[in-house]
Amino acid sequence: MLPFYLLLGVIAAAFLIVRFVGTKRNGNTQNLTPRRAHRFLQRVHYYQNLTPAQQEVFRKRVIDFLAQVRITPAKGVKIRMLDRIYVAAAAIIPVFHKPDWEYSNLNDVVIRSGTFSKDFKGAPEDTNVLGMVGDGAMHRMMVISLHALRTGFEQRGRGNTAIHEFVHLIDKTDGAVDGIPEALLPNELAGPWLQHMQAAIADIRSGKDRDINEYGGRNEAEFLAVVSEYYFQRPEYLQESHPELFEMLEQMYKPQEAAPVS
Ligand SMILES: [Zn+2]
Repeated sequence: MLPFYLLLGVIAAAFLIVRFVGTKRNGNTQNLTPRRAHRFLQRVHYYQNLTPAQQEVFRKRVIDFLAQVRITPAKGVKIRMLDRIYVAAAAIIPVFHKPDWEYSNLNDVVIRSGTFSKDFKGAPEDTNVLGMVGDGAMHRMMVISLHALRTGFEQRGRGNTAIHEFVHLIDKTDGAVDGIPEALLPNELAGPWLQHMQAAIADIRSGKDRDINEYGGRNEAEFLAVVSEYYFQRPEYLQESHPELFEMLEQMYKPQEAAPVS
């Protein structure tokens, strides 16, 4: 009988080691029980507004995300579990209504202090940014400022840099960061969305539309990311000032609940 128990013991030990190493891999989910996650997530406005059943799903997806993606503070930066939760919440919010979504194009999120320079090829002209999705050597990487990360969740109504960057990443999954996130856009919406986006960008540039941050007028990718921040942070404001745009974003982010395109 001994070999049998020995075998059982070996299997159990192997299982524990795999589990331990698996969770230990990035340290994100250490001691993160669903209950503890719930406590942290209560600081996230989007989560507060979900039903208890939806909160359970959200929580699970946050924990799964944290188990898969490394979140690393840059040298000299100290981050808390709540900061990791913020990153994961920003990742899940835009794809919450896409139950099977996985960020297959992301391995690492690096948390920096303050602003930093974009130093990858083809970068836009700005030198100090709060967040970015990497390219080239920084492929599969997102960099975000700790201050911007916290501000996004702790000052309601303002922008949310982390959500902004995750929207770029979603946009990037079809190969082009061009404001046309094929994974979210129903086919029949692609044409109307492009038209609407171009007209809206022209309005921002000409000063006709002063309700949307002018950064959104920079190009199509920034337009999508900026209006998505409004959609998730200040939905009432967006719905009132830009009902048609709001409706299109509903189609992208909440396809099951939005009314069909007319
Ligand atoms: Zn951007």
